[in-house]
Amino acid sequence: MADIYLDHNATTPAHPIAIAAMQGVLGKAANPSSTHRAGQAARHTVDNARRQVRTALNAEHAQVIFTASGTEANNLALHGLPQADYLAVSAIEHPSVILPAQQRDAILIPVNDQGIVDITALERILQAHEGKALVSVMLANNETGVIQPIAEIAACVYAHQGFLHCDAVQALGKIPVDFTELNVDMLTISGHKIGAGQGAAALLIKQGLHLRAQLLGGGQESGYRAGTENVAAIAALGAAINALPTADSTLRDNLEQAIAAYAPDAIICSRDTARLPNTSCIILPGMPSETQLINFDLAGIAVSSGSACSSGKVSTSHVLLAMGIPEAIAQGAIRVSLGSDTTQADIDAFLEVWKKNYSKTQTSTYPAHAA
Ligand code: PLP
Repeated sequence: MADIYLDHNATTPAHPIAIAAMQGVLGKAANPSSTHRAGQAARHTVDNARRQVRTALNAEHAQVIFTASGTEANNLALHGLPQADYLAVSAIEHPSVILPAQQRDAILIPVNDQGIVDITALERILQAHEGKALVSVMLANNETGVIQPIAEIAACVYAHQGFLHCDAVQALGKIPVDFTELNVDMLTISGHKIGAGQGAAALLIKQGLHLRAQLLGGGQESGYRAGTENVAAIAALGAAINALPTADSTLRDNLEQAIAAYAPDAIICSRDTARLPNTSCIILPGMPSETQLINFDLAGIAVSSGSACSSGKVSTSHVLLAMGIPEAIAQGAIRVSLGSDTTQADIDAFLEVWKKNYSKTQTSTYPAHAA
């Protein structure tokens, strides 16, 4: 049975460079807050990783706050800015943005049928509300790969004296991410999406902007995030961010061309829109994504139904619904996300199973899709 991993947007294996950096730390007793020599060596490792993050993201003057996950960094960004009078977040954000935003009665910014933020609607929202907005829009979507026009969004937000947070968790390692060029106030990245293993992520904050800490305690991370640092994971993040692959869309495009040629009724979401080069969201009308995933899994191929859900439950994608795709159709969506080790043979194996799934939907005996 093949063992093919096409779920790199969920997590991607640690890069040898990151594993080596981690191994250099594990086994040593090292708390960066300790004043003895071992502690200071750990402090040096963390500060070195901070420099590596700044250099890789062209963020020389940014504050880099290490957190345990992208989720934590997003929560810090959304809850930590007391200067913001209200929040507006795009309807297709990851739950780690949507859910904290809901706690603060955020306004949802609609997207068009390609999944791109409606800047006219954003402008209306900013005009209609008094005070300063904190706007959060992701750089690239985890389910469809669609890339947002962050520069235009920033111009709109700053024209209204607002603040802009950008979740770049999925973009990093797949397209260039330049903090200065993006011109955002805050940016989230996460180690395990770029081959650093789980356990470290970061929130970058523009110079001069101050956040309210969400975790209080020993004052680590300049008081922004208390808790002893995960030195090994942070070292791995610093190493991995300096070894990012150059992503290319050839294999993903081959896959999509083969599907479009074989099954004109299949839907490849946002195919003609700027997307991450490794991501494809494919809807097979007539077969629920759970069934497709089981068939792929039986063939040894790992794909997903969109965002990974910790409960393992598959629910209809809020991203596809926000794009106006009817629920019954959206329920047939799977996400394929390629990695730097993916080969054409992997794509061919995927296509073989996909075509079998497709042919089952063409037989009248196959149960109709649940609405
Ligand atoms: N933001 C996006 C766009 C994501 O895809 C994810 C994870 O899938 C996260 C945030 C959360 O990151 P983490 O898994 O590091 O908590």
